[in-house]
Amino acid sequence: MSAMPPGNPASNPFVTSPTYLMACQQLRNVARAISLDPGLTDRLMTPKRSQVVAIPVRMEDGRTETFVGYRVQHSLTSGPSKGGLRYAKNVDLGEVAALAMWMSWKCGIMNLPFGGAKGGIAVDPAELKGGEKERLTRRFTDEIQNIIGPRVDVMAPDMGTDEQTMAWIYDTYSMKVGYACPEIVTGKPVELGGCVGRKEATGRGVVYCITEAFNELDIRPETATAVVQGFGNVGSVTCEELVKLGVKVVAVGDRYGSIRNARGIDIPQLLNYAARNPRKTIVGFPGAEAIPDAELLTTPCTVLVPAALERVITAENAGQLRCRVLAEAANGPTDPEADAIISNSDIFVIPDILCNAGGVTVSYFEWVQDLAQFMWDEEEVNSQLKKQMLRAFHRVRAEAKARNFGNRLAALSLGVQKVATEKQKRGLYP
Ligand code: GLU
Repeated sequence: MSAMPPGNPASNPFVTSPTYLMACQQLRNVARAISLDPGLTDRLMTPKRSQVVAIPVRMEDGRTETFVGYRVQHSLTSGPSKGGLRYAKNVDLGEVAALAMWMSWKCGIMNLPFGGAKGGIAVDPAELKGGEKERLTRRFTDEIQNIIGPRVDVMAPDMGTDEQTMAWIYDTYSMKVGYACPEIVTGKPVELGGCVGRKEATGRGVVYCITEAFNELDIRPETATAVVQGFGNVGSVTCEELVKLGVKVVAVGDRYGSIRNARGIDIPQLLNYAARNPRKTIVGFPGAEAIPDAELLTTPCTVLVPAALERVITAENAGQLRCRVLAEAANGPTDPEADAIISNSDIFVIPDILCNAGGVTVSYFEWVQDLAQFMWDEEEVNSQLKKQMLRAFHRVRAEAKARNFGNRLAALSLGVQKVATEKQKRGLYP
């Protein structure tokens, strides 16, 4: 079986993306390890449905600019498809397809009644001015209206999008259907039917996993240090939660640069600094020294948390990591070559589809609350999140021990098997 999905590679729209090939290679590895039926493997490699749309936007200076947007629904087998919407300059169809596939496995591990999806618009959100982001979001929602719906496909925030973006999608969709439909998106503002604790959920889930790993490895948090790549929603909450446990965050990076302080960075002060400066960056923070980006991931620490882009840990730097635990808060931060190197080291990997699953888990709670029109309090949300994360963590560890798999293979195996079993039991139509 090849890593390639079925069909003619020359005209396959996904395979130009290295991220998509990486997702296919992971699936191939797990299919081999669990002896998955090859016909089923081919089905799982091929996203169910994809849409590419042109999004013309009236810009603030009067010009019309056309952006390209994508929505890929990898699987609709387990329920509506679910996944974020990403605004990033270089996003393409294949990357979105890979991220959609990972969402399927993530929902599978967490036992959520969702398939995986992802969306993207090729735009640098930092360059948008005035009402451009709102017009872009509303027009995109309109263009993909025919393939979304609360029982079809439910979007959420991802890189470059936030609660406000979700509010615009909710409003645009509701205007179209003629009634308020909060269950069309998750990660909305709480005032609009959003779930308390959703914003913090991914970072909190990451730290629940790190705590479990520390317990298993007999590491006391007060003696531990952390390096975090990314200071967006996920990275910043992860830093805050780590500090609450007594972990010292010794280095942080964002898209503009990296900083280090061996005595520990003052995270509340750093949050304040980043919020107050126009680019929202950590660069220039007076309580730390600047370091080259290349040094960030190889800074010695107890736990390394990539919380930004995919494929940042590669064959080039994997051998130089100096951490005991690798907590993958980003989607796909470690490529398969790097993974092979890391699995021969003593680094304890908390794989992405487990580590960052807190976000989609609380998205599920939000969707359930909106459908039931009955809202939970934050205590309920957080205790359910903790329960689900711990259950998933220990299921992955049990699978790893039972089959003698690394944590990544164990997590993928659980996620893939959940979807595969459902496909098999539903049968093939017609
Ligand atoms: N974008 C997030 C992720 O990658 C959350 C998706 C969701 O909540 O649907 O998991």
